[in-house]
Amino acid sequence: MAESLTLAQQHLYTFQACPRRFYLRYLVHVPWPEAPLDSELELAYERGRRFHRWVERRFLGLPIAGEGTRDPVLESWWTTFEHDAPALPDGRRFAETSLTVPIGPDGRHRLTGRFDLLIVGPAADGKPASSLFDWKTGEPREMARLVRAWQTRVYLFVLAEGGTALVPQLPEAFAPDRLTFIYWYVAEPATPRRIAYDRVTHHRNRAELEAIVAGIDHQLTAGEWPLTDDWKECRHCPYRAHCGRQAAGQDSQDISIVDQDGLEPEDLWLEPQWA
Ligand code: SF4
Repeated sequence: MAESLTLAQQHLYTFQACPRRFYLRYLVHVPWPEAPLDSELELAYERGRRFHRWVERRFLGLPIAGEGTRDPVLESWWTTFEHDAPALPDGRRFAETSLTVPIGPDGRHRLTGRFDLLIVGPAADGKPASSLFDWKTGEPREMARLVRAWQTRVYLFVLAEGGTALVPQLPEAFAPDRLTFIYWYVAEPATPRRIAYDRVTHHRNRAELEAIVAGIDHQLTAGEWPLTDDWKECRHCPYRAHCGRQAAGQDSQDISIVDQDGLEPEDLWLEPQWA
């Protein structure tokens, strides 16, 4: 029986960058990263993790007390969030909620997204709509890059395809043209990036997602996971020695591989689920 995979955004990034890295990291679980992270980078990840936990607790109505910190950067992020978080629409709130839909040949595989915050309720026009919010503590990205990010495409796709499972009585809230994705950067709180969705974009999105999943499925069937031809990818990949790609050189920090398109710590360390 053919293997069934549960794929999240980071799997798509990784497969696109290098099929062998996808295989090593997610199918045979070669330890990653082999080298310890730079302490400054590790601190940034830990801050990001804690910030997301605080925001989640806020939306769950749980106290932040006991989560105290002497970290002035984290404290300033929190102050910014409390004063300059984007205006939230009315509606039912889902914090840190996952949604999974079938994808690929015969729906064999699954595509999954985990939302920082989803709000389903009436929009300004009075009709049902869905708003996805994603909190970013990293470097702000331009709109064009965010629109193309796998995170954006995966989240909007799974919400359009499977959102009704969350609120069955409001299926119209999950029509593609009723979806909006808002990225909020703590570094630029006054200018959240709002990405609208529509049926044409959803159709194109589906084709692109099906194509990359078909690529993964093909390699899975063939049992072959080629090394990337782009040696630049190897410079920041911990599997250089494993692949015999030491000649690619090494970036000063193994950072870019874990900082693609504004991925946050919780994205980076999310354990993939394999069926
Ligand atoms: S070292 Fe290069 S070929 Fe090997 S997994 Fe990493 S990116 Fe792919």
